[in-house]
Amino acid sequence: MKILVLGSGAREHAIVTALLNEPGQHDIVAAPGNAGIALVVPVVGIDAEDPDAVVDFAQDGDIDLVVVGPEAPLVAGVADALRKRGIPVFGPSREAAALEGSKTFAKHIMAEAGVPTGRAERAGTLSDAERILDEFGAPYVVKADGLAAGKGVLVTESRDAALEHARHWLGHGEVLIEEFLDGEEVSLFLVSDGHTVRPLSPAQDYKRLADGDAGPNTGGMGAYSPLPWLDEQFGSEAAFVDEVIDTIALPTIRQLAAEEKPFIGLLYCGLILTRDGIRVIEFNARFGDPETQVVLPRLETPLSELLFAAASGTLVDQPRPSFSSDVAVTVVVASENYPGTPVTGRVLAGLSEAEAVAGTHIAHAATAVKNGELVATGGRVLSVVSTASDFAEARRRVYEAVDLIGLEGSQHRSDIAAKVATA
Ligand code: AMP
Repeated sequence: MKILVLGSGAREHAIVTALLNEPGQHDIVAAPGNAGIALVVPVVGIDAEDPDAVVDFAQDGDIDLVVVGPEAPLVAGVADALRKRGIPVFGPSREAAALEGSKTFAKHIMAEAGVPTGRAERAGTLSDAERILDEFGAPYVVKADGLAAGKGVLVTESRDAALEHARHWLGHGEVLIEEFLDGEEVSLFLVSDGHTVRPLSPAQDYKRLADGDAGPNTGGMGAYSPLPWLDEQFGSEAAFVDEVIDTIALPTIRQLAAEEKPFIGLLYCGLILTRDGIRVIEFNARFGDPETQVVLPRLETPLSELLFAAASGTLVDQPRPSFSSDVAVTVVVASENYPGTPVTGRVLAGLSEAEAVAGTHIAHAATAVKNGELVATGGRVLSVVSTASDFAEARRRVYEAVDLIGLEGSQHRSDIAAKVATA
Protein backbone atom coordinates (compact mmCIF):
# COMPACT_ATOMS: atom_id res chain seq x y z
CA MET A 1 0.00 0.00 0.00
CA LYS A 2 0.96 3.61 -0.53
CA ILE A 3 0.24 5.41 2.71
CA LEU A 4 0.36 9.15 3.44
CA VAL A 5 0.70 10.10 7.12
CA LEU A 6 -0.24 13.71 7.97
CA GLY A 7 1.39 15.41 10.96
CA SER A 8 4.74 16.20 12.49
CA GLY A 9 4.78 14.97 16.09
CA ALA A 10 6.03 11.99 18.08
CA ARG A 11 2.59 10.44 17.53
CA GLU A 12 3.12 10.49 13.77
CA HIS A 13 6.66 9.15 14.16
CA ALA A 14 5.16 6.29 16.21
CA ILE A 15 2.52 5.64 13.51
CA VAL A 16 5.17 5.60 10.76
CA THR A 17 7.37 3.27 12.83
CA ALA A 18 4.48 0.86 13.42
CA LEU A 19 3.69 0.80 9.68
CA LEU A 20 7.36 0.18 8.82
CA ASN A 21 7.60 -2.66 11.34
CA GLU A 22 4.75 -4.64 9.78
CA PRO A 23 5.59 -7.82 7.92
CA GLY A 24 4.12 -6.35 4.70
CA GLN A 25 6.08 -3.73 2.77
CA HIS A 26 4.49 -0.33 2.36
CA ASP A 27 5.40 2.81 0.54
CA ILE A 28 5.06 5.47 3.24
CA VAL A 29 5.33 9.22 2.90
CA ALA A 30 4.76 11.86 5.59
CA ALA A 31 3.67 15.50 5.42
CA PRO A 32 5.18 17.61 6.81
CA GLY A 33 6.97 15.14 9.15
CA ASN A 34 9.98 16.07 11.29
CA ALA A 35 13.70 15.35 11.40
CA GLY A 36 13.18 11.88 12.91
CA ILE A 37 10.47 10.85 10.45
CA ALA A 38 12.67 12.10 7.60
CA LEU A 39 15.34 9.57 8.63
CA VAL A 40 12.99 6.64 7.88
CA VAL A 41 10.55 7.74 5.13
CA PRO A 42 10.34 10.51 2.53
CA VAL A 43 8.69 13.71 3.77
CA VAL A 44 6.91 16.24 1.57
CA GLY A 45 6.42 19.92 2.21
CA ILE A 46 2.68 20.12 1.52
CA ASP A 47 0.43 21.91 3.99
CA ALA A 48 -1.36 19.14 5.91
CA GLU A 49 -4.14 21.59 6.80
CA ASP A 50 -4.92 22.51 3.18
CA PRO A 51 -7.60 20.10 1.85
CA ASP A 52 -6.90 20.87 -1.82
CA ALA A 53 -3.15 20.40 -1.44
CA VAL A 54 -3.62 17.06 0.34
CA VAL A 55 -6.17 15.80 -2.22
CA ASP A 56 -3.94 16.80 -5.14
CA PHE A 57 -0.92 15.12 -3.61
CA ALA A 58 -2.87 11.93 -2.80
CA GLN A 59 -4.35 11.73 -6.30
CA ASP A 60 -1.11 12.44 -8.10
CA GLY A 61 0.77 9.93 -5.94
CA ASP A 62 -1.87 7.14 -6.18
CA ILE A 63 -2.09 7.07 -2.40
CA ASP A 64 -4.16 4.11 -1.11
CA LEU A 65 -4.67 5.38 2.44
CA VAL A 66 -4.29 8.72 4.19
CA VAL A 67 -3.79 8.64 7.98
CA VAL A 68 -4.52 11.95 9.70
CA GLY A 69 -2.47 12.35 12.88
CA PRO A 70 -3.41 15.67 14.53
CA GLU A 71 -6.77 17.40 14.96
CA ALA A 72 -6.05 20.56 12.96
CA PRO A 73 -6.37 18.93 9.49
CA LEU A 74 -9.64 17.32 10.64
CA VAL A 75 -11.03 20.70 11.68
CA ALA A 76 -9.85 22.11 8.33
CA GLY A 77 -11.95 19.48 6.50
CA VAL A 78 -9.08 17.45 5.05
CA ALA A 79 -10.82 14.10 5.68
CA ASP A 80 -14.06 15.37 4.09
CA ALA A 81 -12.22 16.50 0.96
CA LEU A 82 -10.40 13.16 0.56
CA ARG A 83 -13.54 11.12 1.14
CA LYS A 84 -15.42 13.17 -1.43
CA ARG A 85 -12.85 12.11 -4.02
CA GLY A 86 -13.08 8.47 -2.97
CA ILE A 87 -9.64 8.36 -1.35
CA PRO A 88 -9.64 6.09 1.74
CA VAL A 89 -8.84 8.20 4.81
CA PHE A 90 -8.44 7.32 8.48
CA GLY A 91 -9.76 10.40 10.24
CA PRO A 92 -13.26 11.75 10.91
CA SER A 93 -15.16 14.44 9.03
CA ARG A 94 -15.10 17.96 10.40
CA GLU A 95 -18.60 17.42 11.82
CA ALA A 96 -17.71 14.16 13.60
CA ALA A 97 -14.42 15.64 14.87
CA ALA A 98 -16.51 18.17 16.80
CA LEU A 99 -16.71 15.38 19.38
CA GLU A 100 -13.26 16.66 20.38
CA GLY A 101 -13.47 20.31 19.37
CA SER A 102 -16.77 21.15 21.03
CA LYS A 103 -17.30 20.05 24.61
CA THR A 104 -20.96 21.08 24.25
CA PHE A 105 -21.41 18.76 21.24
CA ALA A 106 -19.65 15.94 23.12
CA LYS A 107 -21.97 16.40 26.11
CA HIS A 108 -24.99 16.38 23.77
CA ILE A 109 -23.89 13.09 22.15
CA MET A 110 -23.20 11.54 25.55
CA ALA A 111 -26.58 12.63 26.93
CA GLU A 112 -28.44 11.23 23.91
CA ALA A 113 -26.45 7.98 23.98
CA GLY A 114 -26.70 7.53 27.74
CA VAL A 115 -22.92 7.57 28.16
CA PRO A 116 -21.73 8.14 31.76
CA THR A 117 -19.89 11.44 32.22
CA GLY A 118 -19.52 14.19 34.82
CA ARG A 119 -22.42 16.55 35.43
CA ALA A 120 -21.71 19.83 33.71
CA GLU A 121 -23.36 23.21 33.22
CA ARG A 122 -22.58 25.96 30.76
CA ALA A 123 -21.97 29.52 31.85
CA GLY A 124 -22.24 32.52 29.55
CA THR A 125 -21.56 35.20 32.15
CA LEU A 126 -19.38 35.56 35.19
CA SER A 127 -22.34 35.58 37.55
CA ASP A 128 -23.60 32.31 36.00
CA ALA A 129 -20.12 30.88 36.49
CA GLU A 130 -20.06 31.97 40.13
CA ARG A 131 -23.46 30.43 40.83
CA ILE A 132 -22.54 27.08 39.19
CA LEU A 133 -19.13 26.90 40.90
CA ASP A 134 -20.83 27.31 44.27
CA GLU A 135 -23.44 24.73 43.37
CA PHE A 136 -20.78 22.10 42.48
CA GLY A 137 -18.28 23.05 45.20
CA ALA A 138 -14.52 22.38 45.37
CA PRO A 139 -12.41 21.02 43.73
CA TYR A 140 -13.54 23.15 40.79
CA VAL A 141 -13.32 22.08 37.13
CA VAL A 142 -13.60 24.87 34.53
CA LYS A 143 -13.30 24.13 30.79
CA ALA A 144 -13.18 26.37 27.75
CA ASP A 145 -15.55 25.22 25.01
CA GLY A 146 -13.49 24.65 21.89
CA LEU A 147 -9.94 23.70 21.03
CA ALA A 148 -7.63 25.46 23.47
CA ALA A 149 -4.40 23.54 22.85
CA GLY A 150 -4.57 21.81 26.21
CA LYS A 151 -4.79 25.09 28.11
CA GLY A 152 -8.57 25.26 28.41
CA VAL A 153 -9.03 23.05 31.48
CA LEU A 154 -8.38 24.12 35.05
CA VAL A 155 -8.84 21.84 38.03
CA THR A 156 -8.33 23.75 41.27
CA GLU A 157 -9.23 23.98 44.93
CA SER A 158 -9.21 27.77 44.68
CA ARG A 159 -12.52 29.48 43.98
CA ASP A 160 -10.66 32.66 42.98
CA ALA A 161 -8.49 30.80 40.47
CA ALA A 162 -11.57 29.04 39.06
CA LEU A 163 -13.35 32.38 38.63
CA GLU A 164 -10.29 33.95 37.02
CA HIS A 165 -10.05 31.06 34.53
CA ALA A 166 -13.77 31.42 33.76
CA ARG A 167 -13.37 35.19 33.31
CA HIS A 168 -10.49 34.64 30.85
CA TRP A 169 -12.28 32.06 28.69
CA LEU A 170 -15.65 33.85 28.78
CA GLY A 171 -13.85 36.41 26.63
CA HIS A 172 -13.68 33.67 23.93
CA GLY A 173 -17.14 32.07 24.35
CA GLU A 174 -19.01 29.97 26.89
CA VAL A 175 -17.32 27.94 29.59
CA LEU A 176 -18.29 24.58 30.98
CA ILE A 177 -18.21 23.95 34.71
CA GLU A 178 -18.01 20.31 35.59
CA GLU A 179 -18.37 18.08 38.59
CA PHE A 180 -14.93 16.94 39.88
CA LEU A 181 -14.34 13.25 39.15
CA ASP A 182 -11.96 11.41 41.44
CA GLY A 183 -10.06 8.30 40.36
CA GLU A 184 -7.39 6.80 38.10
CA GLU A 185 -7.34 8.06 34.52
CA VAL A 186 -7.26 5.70 31.55
CA SER A 187 -6.82 6.46 27.84
CA LEU A 188 -8.49 3.90 25.60
CA PHE A 189 -8.14 4.15 21.81
CA LEU A 190 -10.69 2.51 19.54
CA VAL A 191 -10.50 2.27 15.77
CA SER A 192 -13.92 2.96 14.21
CA ASP A 193 -15.41 2.65 10.72
CA GLY A 194 -18.54 4.55 11.72
CA HIS A 195 -20.50 1.42 12.66
CA THR A 196 -18.29 -0.76 14.79
CA VAL A 197 -15.10 -0.45 16.82
CA ARG A 198 -11.90 -2.38 17.52
CA PRO A 199 -10.06 -1.52 20.75
CA LEU A 200 -6.35 -1.00 21.29
CA SER A 201 -4.67 -1.71 24.65
CA PRO A 202 -5.26 0.89 27.41
CA ALA A 203 -2.58 3.36 28.51
CA GLN A 204 -2.12 5.99 31.17
CA ASP A 205 -0.53 9.35 30.53
CA TYR A 206 0.96 11.99 32.81
CA LYS A 207 -0.45 15.43 32.04
CA ARG A 208 1.28 17.51 34.70
CA LEU A 209 4.76 18.90 34.16
CA ALA A 210 6.49 17.77 37.34
CA ASP A 211 6.95 14.66 39.46
CA GLY A 212 4.10 13.74 41.77
CA ASP A 213 1.61 15.43 39.41
CA ALA A 214 2.80 18.87 40.43
CA GLY A 215 3.01 21.89 38.15
CA PRO A 216 0.88 22.98 35.20
CA ASN A 217 -0.97 20.80 32.70
CA THR A 218 0.97 19.95 29.53
CA GLY A 219 0.32 18.06 26.31
CA GLY A 220 1.62 14.98 28.19
CA MET A 221 5.01 14.19 29.79
CA GLY A 222 5.01 10.39 29.64
CA ALA A 223 2.88 7.26 29.47
CA TYR A 224 2.86 3.52 30.00
CA SER A 225 0.92 0.52 28.74
CA PRO A 226 -0.66 -1.88 29.70
CA LEU A 227 -2.28 -1.01 33.05
CA PRO A 228 -1.73 -3.99 35.36
CA TRP A 229 -4.08 -2.61 38.01
CA LEU A 230 -7.05 -3.02 35.63
CA ASP A 231 -6.78 -6.77 36.23
CA GLU A 232 -7.38 -6.26 39.94
CA GLN A 233 -10.33 -3.93 39.43
CA PHE A 234 -12.07 -5.61 36.48
CA GLY A 235 -10.67 -9.17 36.46
CA SER A 236 -8.84 -8.58 33.19
CA GLU A 237 -7.98 -5.89 30.67
CA ALA A 238 -10.46 -7.49 28.26
CA ALA A 239 -13.30 -7.19 30.79
CA PHE A 240 -12.56 -3.49 31.26
CA VAL A 241 -12.33 -2.91 27.53
CA ASP A 242 -15.62 -4.75 26.93
CA GLU A 243 -17.36 -2.55 29.47
CA VAL A 244 -16.04 0.60 27.75
CA ILE A 245 -17.13 -0.71 24.35
CA ASP A 246 -20.64 -1.60 25.56
CA THR A 247 -21.36 1.45 27.70
CA ILE A 248 -19.33 4.18 26.00
CA ALA A 249 -17.75 3.56 22.60
CA LEU A 250 -20.54 1.79 20.69
CA PRO A 251 -23.35 4.01 22.04
CA THR A 252 -21.28 7.07 21.03
CA ILE A 253 -20.51 5.75 17.53
CA ARG A 254 -24.17 4.77 17.01
CA GLN A 255 -25.43 8.17 18.16
CA LEU A 256 -23.06 9.93 15.75
CA ALA A 257 -24.23 7.63 12.93
CA ALA A 258 -27.88 8.34 13.83
CA GLU A 259 -27.12 12.07 13.54
CA GLU A 260 -25.53 11.40 10.12
CA LYS A 261 -22.05 12.24 11.34
CA PRO A 262 -20.40 8.81 11.08
CA PHE A 263 -17.14 8.67 12.99
CA ILE A 264 -14.42 7.06 10.85
CA GLY A 265 -11.12 7.28 12.65
CA LEU A 266 -9.67 6.99 16.13
CA LEU A 267 -12.06 7.40 19.03
CA TYR A 268 -9.94 8.33 22.03
CA CYS A 269 -11.83 7.82 25.26
CA GLY A 270 -10.35 9.82 28.15
CA LEU A 271 -11.81 8.06 31.19
CA ILE A 272 -11.79 8.34 34.96
CA LEU A 273 -12.49 5.25 37.04
CA THR A 274 -14.55 6.67 39.87
CA ARG A 275 -15.94 4.75 42.82
CA ASP A 276 -19.31 4.92 41.07
CA GLY A 277 -18.01 3.51 37.79
CA ILE A 278 -16.29 4.54 34.57
CA ARG A 279 -16.89 8.16 33.49
CA VAL A 280 -15.84 9.96 30.31
CA ILE A 281 -13.81 13.13 30.88
CA GLU A 282 -13.28 13.82 27.22
CA PHE A 283 -13.26 12.36 23.74
CA ASN A 284 -10.57 13.07 21.21
CA ALA A 285 -10.90 12.40 17.51
CA ARG A 286 -7.32 11.19 16.91
CA PHE A 287 -4.50 9.19 18.46
CA GLY A 288 -3.27 10.65 21.75
CA ASP A 289 0.30 11.80 22.28
CA PRO A 290 2.24 10.36 24.21
CA GLU A 291 0.00 7.28 24.67
CA THR A 292 0.42 6.27 21.00
CA GLN A 293 4.15 5.89 21.60
CA VAL A 294 3.50 3.10 24.15
CA VAL A 295 0.42 1.47 22.59
CA LEU A 296 1.65 0.95 19.01
CA PRO A 297 4.99 -0.76 19.84
CA ARG A 298 2.93 -3.46 21.64
CA LEU A 299 0.46 -3.94 18.75
CA GLU A 300 0.93 -7.27 16.97
CA THR A 301 -1.89 -6.89 14.42
CA PRO A 302 -0.72 -4.97 11.32
CA LEU A 303 -1.75 -1.35 11.91
CA SER A 304 -2.36 -0.69 8.20
CA GLU A 305 -4.98 -3.47 8.07
CA LEU A 306 -6.92 -1.93 10.94
CA LEU A 307 -6.75 1.61 9.60
CA PHE A 308 -7.59 0.58 6.05
CA ALA A 309 -10.54 -1.53 7.25
CA ALA A 310 -11.83 1.47 9.21
CA ALA A 311 -11.38 3.80 6.23
CA SER A 312 -13.18 1.40 3.90
CA GLY A 313 -16.03 0.38 6.23
CA THR A 314 -14.98 -3.26 6.65
CA LEU A 315 -13.88 -3.29 10.28
CA VAL A 316 -16.49 -5.93 11.08
CA ASP A 317 -14.28 -8.47 9.26
CA GLN A 318 -11.26 -7.65 11.46
CA PRO A 319 -10.55 -9.68 14.60
CA ARG A 320 -9.84 -7.84 17.85
CA PRO A 321 -6.25 -6.52 17.66
CA SER A 322 -3.69 -8.51 19.62
CA PHE A 323 -0.93 -7.07 21.82
CA SER A 324 2.41 -8.29 23.06
CA SER A 325 2.66 -9.07 26.77
CA ASP A 326 5.72 -6.80 26.82
CA VAL A 327 5.23 -3.47 28.54
CA ALA A 328 6.16 -0.04 27.21
CA VAL A 329 7.13 3.20 28.94
CA THR A 330 7.72 6.58 27.34
CA VAL A 331 9.30 9.70 28.82
CA VAL A 332 8.92 13.05 27.06
CA VAL A 333 11.94 15.36 26.93
CA ALA A 334 10.78 19.00 26.80
CA SER A 335 12.54 22.30 26.23
CA GLU A 336 13.35 24.81 28.96
CA ASN A 337 10.33 26.87 29.99
CA TYR A 338 7.75 24.47 28.47
CA PRO A 339 4.68 24.69 28.76
CA GLY A 340 5.23 28.44 28.70
CA THR A 341 7.11 29.85 25.71
CA PRO A 342 9.79 27.19 25.17
CA VAL A 343 13.42 28.01 24.46
CA THR A 344 14.07 26.68 20.94
CA GLY A 345 17.02 26.32 18.59
CA ARG A 346 19.27 24.46 21.04
CA VAL A 347 21.38 21.56 19.82
CA LEU A 348 20.38 17.99 20.66
CA ALA A 349 23.03 15.38 21.38
CA GLY A 350 23.31 11.74 22.39
CA LEU A 351 20.35 10.34 20.46
CA SER A 352 22.21 7.42 18.90
CA GLU A 353 23.71 6.51 22.28
CA ALA A 354 20.20 6.60 23.78
CA GLU A 355 18.84 4.37 21.03
CA ALA A 356 21.64 1.89 21.66
CA VAL A 357 20.04 1.06 25.02
CA ALA A 358 18.27 -2.31 24.71
CA GLY A 359 14.61 -2.17 23.67
CA THR A 360 14.74 1.59 23.23
CA HIS A 361 13.87 3.98 20.43
CA ILE A 362 13.12 7.67 20.05
CA ALA A 363 10.02 9.24 18.56
CA HIS A 364 10.87 12.76 17.41
CA ALA A 365 8.43 15.61 17.92
CA ALA A 366 9.86 19.14 17.66
CA THR A 367 13.18 18.50 15.90
CA ALA A 368 14.82 19.86 12.77
CA VAL A 369 18.23 19.80 11.14
CA LYS A 370 19.75 23.30 10.94
CA ASN A 371 23.25 23.88 9.56
CA GLY A 372 23.92 20.18 9.81
CA GLU A 373 22.94 19.97 13.48
CA LEU A 374 19.86 18.46 15.11
CA VAL A 375 18.04 21.18 17.07
CA ALA A 376 14.94 21.43 19.22
CA THR A 377 12.20 23.51 17.61
CA GLY A 378 9.40 23.45 20.18
CA GLY A 379 8.13 22.47 23.63
CA ARG A 380 7.87 18.69 23.61
CA VAL A 381 11.02 17.74 21.72
CA LEU A 382 10.99 13.96 21.68
CA SER A 383 9.66 10.83 23.37
CA VAL A 384 12.07 8.14 24.53
CA VAL A 385 10.28 4.76 24.39
CA SER A 386 11.46 1.53 26.00
CA THR A 387 9.87 -1.88 25.97
CA ALA A 388 10.74 -4.79 28.25
CA SER A 389 9.11 -7.81 29.87
CA ASP A 390 8.36 -5.84 33.05
CA PHE A 391 7.99 -2.24 34.14
CA ALA A 392 11.06 -2.15 36.39
CA GLU A 393 13.26 -3.07 33.43
CA ALA A 394 11.42 -0.77 31.00
CA ARG A 395 11.89 2.13 33.42
CA ARG A 396 15.55 1.33 33.91
CA ARG A 397 16.06 1.35 30.15
CA VAL A 398 14.07 4.47 29.43
CA TYR A 399 15.81 6.56 32.11
CA GLU A 400 19.25 5.27 31.13
CA ALA A 401 18.47 6.53 27.62
CA VAL A 402 16.98 9.84 28.77
CA ASP A 403 20.15 10.53 30.77
CA LEU A 404 22.22 10.10 27.60
CA ILE A 405 20.34 12.86 25.76
CA GLY A 406 21.93 16.28 25.81
CA LEU A 407 19.70 19.36 25.57
CA GLU A 408 20.53 22.42 27.64
CA GLY A 409 17.77 23.31 30.08
CA SER A 410 15.63 20.29 29.17
CA GLN A 411 12.92 18.95 31.46
CA HIS A 412 11.46 15.49 32.02
CA ARG A 413 9.58 13.64 34.75
CA SER A 414 11.41 10.94 36.68
CA ASP A 415 8.34 9.10 38.03
CA ILE A 416 6.73 7.78 34.84
CA ALA A 417 5.33 4.28 35.52
CA ALA A 418 6.97 4.24 38.96
CA LYS A 419 3.73 3.15 40.56
CA VAL A 420 3.54 -0.01 38.43
CA ALA A 421 7.20 -0.99 38.70
CA THR A 422 7.37 -3.53 41.47
CA ALA A 423 11.10 -4.17 41.60
P1 AMP B 1 -9.39 17.39 29.30
O1 AMP B 1 -8.72 18.38 28.39
O2 AMP B 1 -10.87 17.52 29.34
O3 AMP B 1 -8.89 16.00 29.10
O4 AMP B 1 -8.84 17.70 30.76
C1 AMP B 1 -7.47 17.71 31.05
C2 AMP B 1 -7.22 17.03 32.39
O5 AMP B 1 -7.95 17.71 33.42
C3 AMP B 1 -7.72 15.60 32.44
O6 AMP B 1 -6.80 14.69 31.95
C4 AMP B 1 -7.96 15.42 33.92
O7 AMP B 1 -6.74 15.14 34.58
C5 AMP B 1 -8.43 16.76 34.36
N1 AMP B 1 -9.91 16.80 34.37
C6 AMP B 1 -10.73 17.18 33.38
N2 AMP B 1 -12.01 17.08 33.75
C7 AMP B 1 -12.02 16.64 35.02
C8 AMP B 1 -13.05 16.34 35.98
N3 AMP B 1 -14.35 16.51 35.69
N4 AMP B 1 -12.66 15.91 37.18
C9 AMP B 1 -11.37 15.75 37.49
N5 AMP B 1 -10.35 16.02 36.66
C10 AMP B 1 -10.67 16.45 35.42
